[in-house]
Amino acid sequence: MKSDERQVRLNRKNGVGFLTFPRLEALPFLRHVFSTRLGGVSQKEFSSLNLAFGRGDPNENVLENYRRLCAAAGFDATSLVSSAQVHRSAVRRVGRQNRGEGFTKPKPAGVDGMVTNETGVTLVTHHADCVPLYFADPVRRAIGLAHAGWRGTAARIGAETVHTLTREYGSRPEDLVCVVGPSIGPCCFEVDSPVFEIFAAMGDLTPREWIREDGGGKYHIDLWEANRRILMRAGVPEQNISVSGLCTRCHPDLLFSHRATGGKRGGLAAFLALREADDEN
Ligand SMILES: [Zn+2]
Repeated sequence: MKSDERQVRLNRKNGVGFLTFPRLEALPFLRHVFSTRLGGVSQKEFSSLNLAFGRGDPNENVLENYRRLCAAAGFDATSLVSSAQVHRSAVRRVGRQNRGEGFTKPKPAGVDGMVTNETGVTLVTHHADCVPLYFADPVRRAIGLAHAGWRGTAARIGAETVHTLTREYGSRPEDLVCVVGPSIGPCCFEVDSPVFEIFAAMGDLTPREWIREDGGGKYHIDLWEANRRILMRAGVPEQNISVSGLCTRCHPDLLFSHRATGGKRGGLAAFLALREADDEN
């Protein structure tokens, strides 16, 4: 499937740049964003809207960047909930009692996905090439957000998030709307044989259609397409899935990329929240 740059929009407010997806903009009961490098206070390799703690950027800069993005994109900065991601497939149900985890409270470890059906809670996942997966159930008014690097993709965290929404809230997969967000694209995600073998073994996803063999033991893998097919196998209709088509490594001025910088970089974040009923427009 061809990626489509129109599936993502760059917004600017108060000097802060942030991305939104037309597919989710059409759902008035939620608020979403994917961050960029634009409009923060951090310096050097963290310039400027670094949202990653613990990489050498002073915490007060990172917190100020969160405040700026929240103010620009309309999120309540006290509503954020995050977790320590470990590139696996555990998905956790969270609610208002979890607000502040990963910011003003310790963050739970070993969680790469979250779901909620409560307002006043903003799910936050951390990225710098790894694929963000957004989930919205307009019928049950539930949402999910997942961090799918290559390991999480291979562990099918997308399907795990669908199953968690079904188990916790009774969501039907056919009602879900999903966005595969900005991350390293098929243009840039080159791997060696061991990683290739893992994806080549995902036989139910016809992997030969989204893996390119370059020769010399090198391969290019399309993680967007792998995730799209995982979601479809989990029952999400093809027409309900949108791929943003924006590669982090190809846009170094706009986005942080782990591969583009050898790890000397700041971090991006995905945000997703249900709006209060009186906040819908
Ligand atoms: Zn690229």
